Amino acid sequence: MAKTLPETAAIARRGLMLVLSSPSGAGKTTLSRRLLEQDKGVKLSVSVTTRKIRPGEVDGRDYTFIDRRRFDALVEKDELLEWAEVFDNYYGTPAKPVMDALAQGRDVLFDIDWQGTQQLREKARGDLVAVFVLPPSIPELERRLKSRAQDDYETIHRRMAKAADEMSHWAEYDYVVINRDLDQAFADVKAVLAAERLKRERQPGLSDFVRGLQAKL
Ligand code: 5GP
Repeated sequence: MAKTLPETAAIARRGLMLVLSSPSGAGKTTLSRRLLEQDKGVKLSVSVTTRKIRPGEVDGRDYTFIDRRRFDALVEKDELLEWAEVFDNYYGTPAKPVMDALAQGRDVLFDIDWQGTQQLREKARGDLVAVFVLPPSIPELERRLKSRAQDDYETIHRRMAKAADEMSHWAEYDYVVINRDLDQAFADVKAVLAAERLKRERQPGLSDFVRGLQAKL
């Protein structure tokens, strides 16, 4: 008699925290957007920030834009999982949406810098998968920053200077993707996610699943 196999999709799993960091202009935002479009199992952690909204950005989608007083209140109430000062502005990750998503078995994507990644590693080492995206070269990074045309000359200049500092943290990450070609870099990020999802410890429902298989032998 044919045995009915247990439903694999029903295996309980814990979500993971996928961090993408890079110097501005290395392609991280494009990679994040693609991943969110193509993989409905991934939810973006929407950061709060004190920086001004840029043309094309949507409040509540790209960031939640708040003033310094509200930011300080969130820090005071311990409602941020991590926070950092970047380019004279403050950025932070609200804790509750992340915790809720992980508990529901959803993966959470973070577009945060190395300072935030270090804090997440201290708080949630087992849940963290940290990917650093590198540009193929400095002239290419400069070209990408200029072609954005969102920022003024001085900001671009400061970002280039900061890129060197950010890049020095590459070795603190679990994976490094060089963005020579966007399609290849995206395939690399997807491969990391696919492998990390299969990790035994991320599938707490596995023992029950295997027991179910064994019971039917
Ligand atoms: P931008 O202002 O260009 O959107 O972001 C500037 C930098 O801040 C980027 O490197 C981005 O990854 C980082 N960032 C954005 N949100 C957060 C956050 O919540 N926490 C930390 N630590 N960095 C963030």
